[in-house]
Amino acid sequence: MVKAYDEDVIVEIVDLHKWFGNFHVLKGINLKVHRKEIIVICGPSGSGKSTLIRCINRLETHQKGKIIVDGIELTDNVKNIEKIRSEVGMVFQHFNLFPHLTVLENLTLGPIWVRKMPRKQAEEIAMHFLEKVHIADQAHKYPGQLSGGQQQRVAIARSLCMSPKIMLFDEPTSALDPEMIKEVLDVMVELAEEGMTMIVVTHEMGFAKKVAHRVMFMDEGVIVESNTPEEFFSNPRHERTKLFLSQIL
Ligand code: ADP
Ligand code: MG
Repeated sequence: MVKAYDEDVIVEIVDLHKWFGNFHVLKGINLKVHRKEIIVICGPSGSGKSTLIRCINRLETHQKGKIIVDGIELTDNVKNIEKIRSEVGMVFQHFNLFPHLTVLENLTLGPIWVRKMPRKQAEEIAMHFLEKVHIADQAHKYPGQLSGGQQQRVAIARSLCMSPKIMLFDEPTSALDPEMIKEVLDVMVELAEEGMTMIVVTHEMGFAKKVAHRVMFMDEGVIVESNTPEEFFSNPRHERTKLFLSQIL
């Protein structure tokens, strides 16, 4: 396991409920994430994993309960939403890079236009993070010229350019060919070892065993089980967790 996390809480979720129309998708989620903590969330398709992490940077609104990120509660207050979004990095399954911009331009867009950073400085920072994800040689290519694994590493680097305090990953390797999964997971392990706070939705249980402080199993809008990876894998308590693990391991 990676280093211990800090005492202080960066994300606090209290009795969170969300509905899509009449459909009750999140049914009372409670979660505290500490600084430098790595949380892995797994669970069947449709259980609400994406919706939960999308609520944390207000890509989805919630109807009941509280979400507090770095001391700021997420409400309709647009200024607060902007502030929280600027602190929360998000990496999606399908990369979401701008196809008409080069890799370097994808990385400098946010720092230049949102952070008002001079272009030269934004490019230096971008190159630093492209080196970190081992892809600096691709800086002047377009996303379409890269493999899926390379595009996902660009997406990670793009998030890092905004100096996030926490990174959310939504199944970052599930759209990748098997040979590319490792190169993305390796980068995520490096980030974890450097002390980035991370919430990772993934079924890559090797990653969970290696770096997670806690692994959570979600089903039908609730966190059914939450434990250290050791306990979670060797001694799952709930039948639904056992069944799920037996299907994916
Ligand atoms: P997971 O990521 O665990 O697969 P999701 O959070 O994507 O699950 O979805 C949970 C449930 O909410 C699913 O039944 C899905 O169909 C539904 N859902 C997700 N997004 C929407 C939406 N925008 N409108 C209506 N229903 C949605
Ligand atoms: Mg999902």
